[in-house]
Amino acid sequence: MDKEVIKKYKILIQDVENYVLKKNGRRKATRKHWTPEDREKWKLRYPECPLCHESYDESNPITKEHITPLFLGGPERDCNVIAICHKCNKSRDNVMKKLLATTDIAQIRERWPAIKPAVDNFVIWCHITLYDYDNLDQVKDLNHAFKNERNIDLAVKNKNNFLINNSKSFFYSVLDSLRNITSKKDMPLNSGSDIKLDSVSSIIPAEKTNTSSINDNTIIRPDVIFDLNNWVLENWKNKSDYNKMKTQILRHEKDNGGNRKLRTILKDDFDIPKSWSVKKISSYFEDLKTKIQSSTVKTPINTVQEKEPNVIPSRDELKVILAKNITKRIGANTYKDGFKISQIAYIFKQSKEKYEVSWNKFFTHLGVKYEENVETTCKKLLLELDLTIEESLDKNGDQKYLFSESN
Ligand SMILES: [Zn+2]
Repeated sequence: MDKEVIKKYKILIQDVENYVLKKNGRRKATRKHWTPEDREKWKLRYPECPLCHESYDESNPITKEHITPLFLGGPERDCNVIAICHKCNKSRDNVMKKLLATTDIAQIRERWPAIKPAVDNFVIWCHITLYDYDNLDQVKDLNHAFKNERNIDLAVKNKNNFLINNSKSFFYSVLDSLRNITSKKDMPLNSGSDIKLDSVSSIIPAEKTNTSSINDNTIIRPDVIFDLNNWVLENWKNKSDYNKMKTQILRHEKDNGGNRKLRTILKDDFDIPKSWSVKKISSYFEDLKTKIQSSTVKTPINTVQEKEPNVIPSRDELKVILAKNITKRIGANTYKDGFKISQIAYIFKQSKEKYEVSWNKFFTHLGVKYEENVETTCKKLLLELDLTIEESLDKNGDQKYLFSESN
């Protein structure tokens, strides 16, 4: 990636880093979803998806996109919001999941700074694809990954875009608001060492050095990271699985155009030092497995529930319980295409009945004002929970909510 481009996005990247390292004291922004009116307004302003240029319809409705993802510290403000179609939204998500292998900020923190180049690259890509088409060439790998998901060539699609005039004000307002936060710090513009971006640029270190032999030993790093966590969770039993892992990772590397050796991959992508023995890696994987298992099953609040079933937990605890009651149903077939608000209300009702309180008391306890009817109020309550929500419409035009595990 060009130095100029990195310089341009330096403030955004710095802001993400500050969030990851908890230096800016910011909490993850609470997701607000669009009302049907919001959606119509956005549709009027931008009648087609800026990525694929298709019009919105029932099969591919308009959705809200946070340009810098919320879980990476992106703000829930207009400067960070754009309308894109459901399919492109999903595809961007998939690119992110493949690249970062997680959407859990705790895991990003754990893998920092090894994962920083990938995060930087992704954030820059998020912005370039929407506002900065001149630099699309700088993020070829991710464009390619997106193309694999959505079968759309962004470089071609965005030659004649309609957003460009508005885009500057959007983009610069992000920069401005961030500049206010960060300007006091002395930020050295890219020194070259702190940001190592996509594989294209790392293959050809144009402005680097005289010493390296570039051509023969060029290391090609694919932009899709092997989903090691998941593999370990599903397949790892003991040391004897090491070779199986090796085969899988190397195959994945090859399939995605990379050529690194196993230990380089483990070091680059998963921060596993080359000096570790197979035995050490093995026990690391066993720990990892236990950790993942306990983090997916963990329901710390249940103990509170079991002890005193009729005492309503504190507001924050109850919010966690409600969120959990939703997320534990995510895999179920019934909710495959998302939750209807009536289903959400039912889930809340079940929780409410445990504490033998009225709806009124339940909502008041949670700090939500009763509005119109239970469902409308439940909708409001839903937004108060720490959940990552994506809205869409089903074929009957009913609103559906899709959740992913929050972080
Ligand atoms: Zn689209």
